[in-house]
Amino acid sequence: MKKNLVWLLILVFTIGCMPISIFADGQIADSVYLNGNIYTLNEKAPKATALAIKGQKLIFVGHDKDVKAYIGKDTKVIDLGGKTVTPGLIEGHMHYPGLGQSLLLLDAFWKPKADILAAVKAEADRLPDGEWILGRGWNQEVWPGAQFPTKEDLDAVAPNNPVSLERTCGHAIWVNSLALKLGGITKDMANPQGGEILRDKGGNATGILTDTAGSIIEKNIPTFNEARKKEALIKAQAELFSYGITTSMDAGSGIEDIKNMKDLYQSGDLKIRLYTMASSGETAQAFYKTGPEVGLFNDRLTINCIKFYADGSLGARSAWMLKEYSDRAGHVGNGRNSNDIFYDMVKEARAHGFQVATHAIGDAAVNQCVNTYEKVLKENPLADHRYRIEHFQVATLEDIQRIADIGIIPAMQSVHATSDKNMAEDRVGSERIKGAYAWRKVINAGSIIPNGSDAPVELVNPYHGLYAAVTRMDRDGVPVGGWYPEECMTREEALKSFTIWAAYGQFQDKSRGSLEVGKLADFTVLDRDVMTCPASDIKDTNALITVVGGETVYTKAISKNLTVMAKGVETKIATTTIGNELYVPIIETAKALGLKYSANLNTISITKDFNPIILAIDSKNINKNGVEYKAANAVKSVKGITYMPVSYLRDYFGYHVMTYTGSNILSINF
Ligand SMILES: [Zn+2]
Repeated sequence: MKKNLVWLLILVFTIGCMPISIFADGQIADSVYLNGNIYTLNEKAPKATALAIKGQKLIFVGHDKDVKAYIGKDTKVIDLGGKTVTPGLIEGHMHYPGLGQSLLLLDAFWKPKADILAAVKAEADRLPDGEWILGRGWNQEVWPGAQFPTKEDLDAVAPNNPVSLERTCGHAIWVNSLALKLGGITKDMANPQGGEILRDKGGNATGILTDTAGSIIEKNIPTFNEARKKEALIKAQAELFSYGITTSMDAGSGIEDIKNMKDLYQSGDLKIRLYTMASSGETAQAFYKTGPEVGLFNDRLTINCIKFYADGSLGARSAWMLKEYSDRAGHVGNGRNSNDIFYDMVKEARAHGFQVATHAIGDAAVNQCVNTYEKVLKENPLADHRYRIEHFQVATLEDIQRIADIGIIPAMQSVHATSDKNMAEDRVGSERIKGAYAWRKVINAGSIIPNGSDAPVELVNPYHGLYAAVTRMDRDGVPVGGWYPEECMTREEALKSFTIWAAYGQFQDKSRGSLEVGKLADFTVLDRDVMTCPASDIKDTNALITVVGGETVYTKAISKNLTVMAKGVETKIATTTIGNELYVPIIETAKALGLKYSANLNTISITKDFNPIILAIDSKNINKNGVEYKAANAVKSVKGITYMPVSYLRDYFGYHVMTYTGSNILSINF
């Protein structure tokens, strides 16, 4: 965590005895945020310092002096301390359940082996017997001895749950005996083509399977059950809120995903706003019977769009190109549908009143989309169709102009350009690359670009996307100056691509994407000004507070709840960090430890074993039994609560103190 602890000083106070005055429009806000550096994304009034919220909407956006009229006696007033605020970020193309399910995997990324085994044991203790434990990221090269791990390591901690942990490279898995048994891997089984079952001297599988040998196990892993799928949806929400994303989307949901989402909105577990594209096929057919569902659960869930696929990916050379690949003669990739079939699919969606979004990466796939959309819209016109092409990675210069003319929206993910740059140029060569990831040409032609991450394909962090959009460099700063830097977005365009443009792509620009009176109170407080900070710092931005519909759904942790174990009794204590020191609230801690205490204006006296210790607030001295001690860190008063460093418990009270930051446990022994 950085030095954002000034943040501590944010004051939350209610005005006790505000005189009843004549308010601007008679409205009293539930909450008011002031003293902010607010980018509204409203072109008529782009900057503000204050917001007033009632219910889930904004009733005022403007300046501090004018917001006072909205403050009543019960209004919560938050001083933003000059921090930067943007509209809640909108993730314009990702796979929501997929992100959540990837977060369910145990994170073994380059961790010590003992830590990984402890995490596997914790999962085994938590899950019913027989349930799979899945993870990824281990790397034996960082362990002492650099030896491959074994099935026995896992058997010792999880004998009754099959375990499969993928190596960091993705080309090997580490499994336990139960997983080998379920996969039918025996001593006699030969290595499959393209993979190896690693064996000991006796010929028995050791628990490491490479490439296609791993697939033997992986095909036996059942999909998550309903409870775990719901857990995944909640995990994805927490992840997105931690980045300041208030509206997300799912580029292709099945019937079951949508049912799970609805259950979780009903129970109040989901609060994020979701724009859900129904997958073509059975899900689309089900929705064609009932029509679009817009603004369910207080404007949280909308199903208004059908997701199609026109091709594959450039990496796999399955993106569909008009001419052969530059690095594979005679090969043009794979279109998913004939022109006639695709026309029927789009026509059907149009007839049932749904927006259309089609995954198209190669220039042939893009061209099929443009031709088909144009034809359907000519036959059955719709003034405001907002038909989308997802990714729009390689397009002819003609099609870049045609989509602008027809009003087709290219949903492009800026991080793809910086991840794919070398591979993409190999695939399409130096001429076609001019129409690839060509944001400047797209915007200059008259289009807008909803941005996004395509998570879990890429990390969901939207600040990586903003950074890629304005620099066209990867996060190591390569290439210096950017890859085809003439295609960069301006910072303003990049921020629009994650807010108002993304909202427009979802027919939601009337309710969100900018901070204006009458719109939803969805916004994000950031730790830096992304519009003025050095471009290279944009990628490291942190969201400090995320607000959805006036409700704070995320606050960056500046304090931790510690479980204090004292005399075998557990108490939860909210600690805080000041500088690099961990502080505990004095009175609460004294209570937990069963100590006598009394507080005066400037001192707190605590008595342990009949020895009074006097802590002077905000002074550097401590008096113990009449003797003055110089304390390294003063006792601090924050928001009316007095804290002392945890180390005082050891230094002045003689406790044996141990903290376990991983588990947030503070153990105090006598
Ligand atoms: Zn996608």
